[in-house]
Order: sequence, then C-alpha cells, then structure tokens
Amino acid sequence: MAEKVGSSIITYRLKLRCDHIDWIRETENFYNKVLEFYYEILTDHLDFLELSNMEVLRRLEQMTIVGRDKQPVMMPLPFQKVPLYFRRSAINAAIGHIRSYVGLLQNWERKKEKAEKKGHTWKKGKPAPAKSFHASVVFYKGMFKEFGEGSILLKLWNGRSWIWVRHTYYGRKLPKEGIILSPAVINKGRKILLSVPVKFQVKDVRKVKERKKEKDSFCAVHFTTTGVLAACAVFSGNGHVTDSYFVRGGKEFAYRRKRLLNRIKKAVEGGKKYKRKIFRLSSYYAHLVSRRILDYCKQKGIKGIIVPKYAEIEGHLYGQGIEGFLGKRIIQFLKYKAWKEGIILTTISPYYTASHCCHCGIPLRRYNEGHMPGNRYFGGKLFMCKNGHQGNVALNAAKNLGILFHSRNIVVG
Ligand SMILES: [Zn+2]
Repeated sequence: MAEKVGSSIITYRLKLRCDHIDWIRETENFYNKVLEFYYEILTDHLDFLELSNMEVLRRLEQMTIVGRDKQPVMMPLPFQKVPLYFRRSAINAAIGHIRSYVGLLQNWERKKEKAEKKGHTWKKGKPAPAKSFHASVVFYKGMFKEFGEGSILLKLWNGRSWIWVRHTYYGRKLPKEGIILSPAVINKGRKILLSVPVKFQVKDVRKVKERKKEKDSFCAVHFTTTGVLAACAVFSGNGHVTDSYFVRGGKEFAYRRKRLLNRIKKAVEGGKKYKRKIFRLSSYYAHLVSRRILDYCKQKGIKGIIVPKYAEIEGHLYGQGIEGFLGKRIIQFLKYKAWKEGIILTTISPYYTASHCCHCGIPLRRYNEGHMPGNRYFGGKLFMCKNGHQGNVALNAAKNLGILFHSRNIVVG
C-alpha cells in the first residue's frame, strides 16, 4: 500500500516595519473594493458555489475581464490598473466570504426547521450578506518578491500607481523546511503584521483507529492548576503503562499571574494592559508546556496523544471555569504541533479520571505529605485508596484517561 502523505499549515506572524502606512491602507481599500464587486456578483449567482473555487474564479473572470478575443463582457470590472494576481486574490477572498455566508444561512435554516418541527417559535434573525469588507490583503505571487533575510518587497497601490516597496520585518524566524505560501498584510492601525502560512509535509496521516489497531504507543495527558501543569503516562500498544513524565512550572506561572492580577486590582483604568499581559503569559506557558509534552512524545516514539475532552457546554466536568487553567490552550497548541510531527491527538471524556483509583477503580482520598487523606481534600497532590494503592493524583488521572481510551472499541474525537 502506498504511503499516504498529508500536510499541515502553520502560520507565522511577523512584525512589519512600515514607513508608508497610507499606502498599505490604499492597497487594502482597493482590494476590498474589488472583493465587494465580485461578492455582489456572487450573491446573484449562488449556484456557482456548487463548483470548485478554481472554476468559480474562471467563470467570474469570463464575466468581467476582456479576453484575448477582445469581445465585450457582461459586467466589466469597473476599475483600471488591477494586476492579475491582485484581482485573483480578491476574487478568492470574495468566494471565501460568500461561502461562509451561505454556510451561516444553511445553518440558520436547519435550526429554524428543527425549532418549528418542535413547535417552538424561531426568533433569531436571518443572516444577511455582508455589506462592508475589511479583508486583509493576501499577496499572491507577482505581488511580492525577494522575501527572506528580514525583508520583503511588496507591490503597493499608492492611490495613483503600483510601486514596489521594500519592508523589513522582525519576529519569529521562518523555518528552513516547508513551503512558504502567500503572505497577508494585517493592518492593526499603527501595527502592521505579516502573516505567513508555511506548509509542512506530514508523513504519517493514519487515523486514531488505525494507530490503535496497529498497536502504536499512546501518551495520556492530564492537566492541572497545581505545580504539575501536565502529567503524562505512556501506554504501550497492549494498554500497559510503560513510562511517565511531569511538566512542572505551575507554581511559577501562578505566581506571575497573581502578580499581574494584583496590578489589575490597583490599576485606575481597568488594567487593560495587564489583562493583555496575562493573556500573553498564558500563551507563553501553554506553548512551553505543549512543546515539552511533544518533545517527550517524540523521544518515546509515541504516535498518539490522549487528552481530556472538556465539555463545550457549562457542565460539571473537570477543567470547566477554573481560573488560570491552561489545559484547553495547551491542547489547542499541542494539536497542530503534534500533527506536524505525524502524531495525532484524540480526546476522551474524563469521567471519574481524577476521583477514582486507576488500579482498582474505587473513589480515592487525597492528601499532602504529612497529612491525613480525606474525601474532600481538594488540594491534595497525593492519593490513597482503601485497597492501599497510592501515588500522584495528576498521574493517576492521566493513567485513567489512557485506560478509558484502551478499554473502548470506538474511538472518540
Ligand atoms: Zn486502588
């Protein structure tokens, strides 16, 4: 059987140094005008959307652009000096916008039908097509060049003509491997960002089921708000625990977060600046923890990672509504980082994983060194059960998660 190859796209965000933000703005306005023109045509031709994007683009160009035969077209593009790849980029953006509108509309109609079947009155307003556009300009080939080594040439519209403008950028280093796709310029007022998608090849694209069937090793991970931010338990293909690992640093994170929270309390104007700092701090730790987990998994030859499925709705499940809990964000980062390495992430509802003994399944009692175990000892890092099993609470939860995964025939997520 031929090996299937997949891909993963990771977007790098760089800061662009810009002497002429007005030109960026002009280019963006122009782009959105072209986008709007095509969007309006598409709202009258929703039947086009059954075709592929390439085919839709071809149809739109046939309707609006005079070809080599010099024959007049139905709806000529009402702008002069629109470069080919600028136009195509705007057309594709318009197709993206209309597809998302139609998606919303279909969803609305489905829900309405369902509600009416049940005899409920449906009050939610029907989604309307977009009226104004603020899309970021995606620079297709021909619109940018000499990209690398900290600078890029962008073709910009200055209101009268197209000019090549060199910009320097700084931030994360772009990877050596991978294919660089069309960058987009994101205008955030005073700050201009260059968003660069990079496509990586993924060699192992097997599904969770296949990996489980082929007896690959999995790593179950449990997240906490204590000093141990993540506890990992490695399971062999036979479902036995073969190794474990802790990602610590939770105390340091909690301390730094608390300091910022105190500043918010003291701040005069709501402490917006510190809220942003807290967000950045959480991102930093979430990236760090996801990277540590992934490095460990790579080292152990793991092919799948099992994480708790945190309920989407307000529920009683662990991890819901806990302030300063990083689990969800770590999972979000871990998912795409792992996929790039051919490791798949799967979720499992963590029923009783934190409250029951992984060896015998009975409720456990928590405690800390030198204390008596108790049923309501919530901060306890260690556990003990009536059958004499004991150990670390976080690792126990990770093991339970792995056991749940291996005891099921149907794989969730
Ligand atoms: Zn036990």
